[in-house]
Amino acid sequence: MENVKCLIIGGGPAGYTAAIYASRAGLCPVLYEGMEPGGQLTTTTVVENFPGFPEGVDANQLMGDMRSQALRFGADIRTGVITSVDFSRRPFSLVVDGGTVIEARAVIIATGASARYLGLPSERKFRGMGVSACATCDGFFYRKKDVAVVGGGDTACEEATYLANICNKVYMIVRRDVFRASLAMRDRVMNTPNIEILWNCNTQEVLGDETGVTGVRLLRKDGKVFDIKVDGFFLAIGHHPNSDVFKDFIDTDENGYIITDGKSSRTNVEGVFAAGDVQDPSFRQAITAAASGCKAALEVERFLMSN
Ligand code: NDP
Repeated sequence: MENVKCLIIGGGPAGYTAAIYASRAGLCPVLYEGMEPGGQLTTTTVVENFPGFPEGVDANQLMGDMRSQALRFGADIRTGVITSVDFSRRPFSLVVDGGTVIEARAVIIATGASARYLGLPSERKFRGMGVSACATCDGFFYRKKDVAVVGGGDTACEEATYLANICNKVYMIVRRDVFRASLAMRDRVMNTPNIEILWNCNTQEVLGDETGVTGVRLLRKDGKVFDIKVDGFFLAIGHHPNSDVFKDFIDTDENGYIITDGKSSRTNVEGVFAAGDVQDPSFRQAITAAASGCKAALEVERFLMSN
């Protein structure tokens, strides 16, 4: 059976950064990329807020470059999904794609989180062409334009107020007649003049042409169907941290985010660390994920020195 010093699960900014640090530290990391190599960033186009790229950088290019950087220092990057784990004893035991078993002295979980989508075919068709699940990433492309945000939680309110600073007008599409968001966030939305709330509305279809999104067709609870014209359609109906496979061993909060120990990336299992969006419900940025991948690798290095 293969036995590795450091196993990294996840091929996003956190995983690749952890691999860069771990390989430079001589830990010979093996990284499994999972089903979405490059992570969530690959669903967007240009990244303009990652430091070091004054003109912005193509998201796939950025992730490809992080990956190449890890390979350059000797990281062993593999295709495969971790389908089950046994963290009850060391070395830890992990199953890849339901078959191969691999043992690891230390593990970094960097499996990310997935944005929830409505599941409409038209929404899928225009993903990256006006449909986005990240206002901070993509809002800038809709400067002085009209956009819509779906959702009534804290994220939706935060994204709507963020977009209201950039865009001409922001519609909030809320499926009930109340917000789920906290009072402070609700107040902020209510006091922003260029946000219009469309209560009791569900999205029937995202409208568009070869240029991308042009509007949204809505169904109101009273049966009325109507269209609004927008260039951007932002989903803010929640995220799902990809922690399910670890839940028998690793503590999570009520939403499934892995709990780490204060400023550290340590989980409740000694030798298992978590980095990136799988343990971060608040910031969810490529740069914060990369930074936490760095921290996790440094902590693995310290852990392996004494274990
Ligand atoms: P939430 O689960 O809190 O809210 C999701 C929202 O999306 C709800 O309004 C929900 O409607 C709506 N929704 C869900 N599914 C659909 C659907 N299929 N169609 C239309 N609408 C839908 O998720 P958030 O991401 O907003 O927040 C997650 C957690 O993070 C929360 O605990 C939140 O408080 C926290 N958070 C805190 C922030 C802060 O304090 N600054 C910022 C962002 C998040 P309904 O209400 O009808 O179910």
